Amino acid sequence: MKFRTTIKSMFPNFLRNSAIAILLIFMVQCTEKSDKLLLVKNGKSEYKIYLSDNAIPSEKYAAIELQKYIYEISDYKLPITNNYQESNKYIFLGFQDIPKSLILDVDVNSFGMEEFIIKTSDKDILIAGGSPRGTLYGAIAFLSDLGCRWYTPDYKKIPKTKDIILNATNKREKPAFEYREAFYKEAYDTEWAVHNRLNPSMSMPPDSMGGGYKIYPFVHTFYQLVSPDKYFKPHPEYFAMVDGKRKGHKAQLCLTNPEVLKIATETVYRWIKEQPGVRVLSVDQNDGYGFCECKKCKAIDEAEGSHSGSLLNFVNKIADTVDQTNPEIRIQTLAYVYSEIPPKNIKPGPNVTIRLCHYEYCSAHSLEGCDSHKVFLERLQGWSEIAERITIWDYFTDFNHYLIPFPNFETFKQDIKFYADHNCIGLFAQGANVAQNGGGEFSTLRAWVFAQMMWNPYQDAQALIDEFVTNVYGKAAPYIKTYIDLLHEKVKPDSVYFSIYAKPTDGGYLTPDIVRESVKLFQQAEAESVNDPELLKRVELAGLPVLYTQLYFYSIGGQTYLSKQNMPNILKKFQRIIAENKIIQLAENPTRSDVNEFIRKVKHQNTYLTNWWIIGPFDNPDESGLHIKYPPETEFDNEKAYQGKNKKSIMWNYVVNEESGYMDFIKLFEDHTDGVAYARTDIELKKDRKMKIGIGSNDGVKLWINEKLVLTNQIARKAEPNQDILTVNLKKGKNDILIKIDQTSGGWGFYFTTMD
Ligand SMILES: [Zn+2]
Ligand SMILES: [Zn+2]
Repeated sequence: MKFRTTIKSMFPNFLRNSAIAILLIFMVQCTEKSDKLLLVKNGKSEYKIYLSDNAIPSEKYAAIELQKYIYEISDYKLPITNNYQESNKYIFLGFQDIPKSLILDVDVNSFGMEEFIIKTSDKDILIAGGSPRGTLYGAIAFLSDLGCRWYTPDYKKIPKTKDIILNATNKREKPAFEYREAFYKEAYDTEWAVHNRLNPSMSMPPDSMGGGYKIYPFVHTFYQLVSPDKYFKPHPEYFAMVDGKRKGHKAQLCLTNPEVLKIATETVYRWIKEQPGVRVLSVDQNDGYGFCECKKCKAIDEAEGSHSGSLLNFVNKIADTVDQTNPEIRIQTLAYVYSEIPPKNIKPGPNVTIRLCHYEYCSAHSLEGCDSHKVFLERLQGWSEIAERITIWDYFTDFNHYLIPFPNFETFKQDIKFYADHNCIGLFAQGANVAQNGGGEFSTLRAWVFAQMMWNPYQDAQALIDEFVTNVYGKAAPYIKTYIDLLHEKVKPDSVYFSIYAKPTDGGYLTPDIVRESVKLFQQAEAESVNDPELLKRVELAGLPVLYTQLYFYSIGGQTYLSKQNMPNILKKFQRIIAENKIIQLAENPTRSDVNEFIRKVKHQNTYLTNWWIIGPFDNPDESGLHIKYPPETEFDNEKAYQGKNKKSIMWNYVVNEESGYMDFIKLFEDHTDGVAYARTDIELKKDRKMKIGIGSNDGVKLWINEKLVLTNQIARKAEPNQDILTVNLKKGKNDILIKIDQTSGGWGFYFTTMD
């Protein structure tokens, strides 16, 4: 593909090579000594775990974990001791008070906070690292090398053997990303997070378990830095000027006002005092827009070609001050919404971290996989040229439907490595997580693979996915693997696009065929698991998205996905699995995510009109097409050709929608940006009556009944059934229905329901 070469050349070779040169993971396997160490032989061991009295809390925890899991593996409990005798054999944990001979060639002060070494001598083993988590992560790595895996908070794999035989080794390792957080409820299980070496900022593990990567406050901090409650009345000039007016809510700060800098700096110092151990302080913009347009702010932004100009000018000053007193602290700021474009001249200070967000793109393909990421890649390139520290905030779920099958595995299989290759030092992977709600589509699989890839992105991500599926789904694994492949194969073509706010009708991959096949695969998967209730529970949760899809399409009139007859059984099963897994929200936005509301929509009986004459597209100049009277508004002749958009000849086509109640113009018209289209049908009645009807449209709509205009709604929205509800008078015999829908970009189509 042409685009791929463009992107590669966008990142010059020296940049790629330097990224590899500072590649943060290195392992040295030393094989010159062939002697093996018999840690446990025949269920017995001569070894003790040596832990100094001066060990830090997380090293004590590491000793207990090591003892616990070696016992689980071999049935032998290694004693933990602080008493060293040269003739004995030890696993030394931590660098404190250990024989010098073990560390002759090791500079113990050179270890980073999470960096460790695992090293054998002719009889002893050393696992040690930097503070606070190096030794602990070394112990986890040691257990992982023995085959221990913590796949989900409820499912781990610990090998069983009476003999633990170790090869001589000398490996030193640290993570590729210094900040690693996966925003899935499952990934905040403390033990799971520690075992998988995530260092989240939210729900941080306690210090006794190594702690986390403390970012304070987490994000969007302008009004915490300078409170509008306190300052807006006496000093509106501290706050952003928006459309000529100072604004103290849902906006930003005036970043060139010296008093603002003074107050914000004071707040930062208060935070440092109040939050001992904090490493990263957020000085970043509020959510949304509302940047300051005052003369001074505007001048900087114009000179810098971006609103990141005034922002960085401000952030750098705070960072400079903090650097004098607290060189260990970093100041983090967002490149987000209006500040994503890097500035022309200003560079972020060396202790400033840019948190660049990646959200408006296609989820089907990786960063280098399709053009939708082009703008973001240009920005990433720009930032990587001027910033020493970039962390990425990326989004890996459907925020409108946590439970739909979301085949975006290509994105994280490729992109985590891509970020590592481009100087990024952290990743916040935002997944399906709200409040106490877990259970999003493949949340446990995603959390586990993310954790492994953030530690070492140069692993084979597909092998990790396969490993997870094989182990966690056991006998059912082949069917689940086939299901994953089926969906991902379907979204491979360049033409497929779905966003992180997709509807199940977007992307075109949830066709009746695919869903039917998926239902079958999960029936087989469940049949294989039926004698293992714990396995069955995991398999049913993995299959929940398929049930959700069937019910969702049913709720919008798609009886090809689920018959009326089968609906109650499927709904019952869905409700049981939801309850068993304590799933309470189906989307990020609480107003559209209530489980009971979804169930109500499934049960609600609407009749969808699915047989229509369709014609389009006609022109939509300056988005005024909805109000231009094209011939279909004055005549209906299905044998006549009309002049459509770009002077193309178009005719009426009869369309029967068997998939759902959603008439999808994207599927019907080749050209589906900027246009208007018409649909016509009739309702035949035995007598005059009033009827309640519902319209859902993407985007604006006009509706005529018997040539009388009854609805005009020029609006940009995603279609849901019954967005506009009206009662109309219909007559005995045929009633003519004509609907017109306009389009700029994105989805295009409508629902028409009769509600009684
Ligand atoms: Zn200003
Ligand atoms: Zn794409």
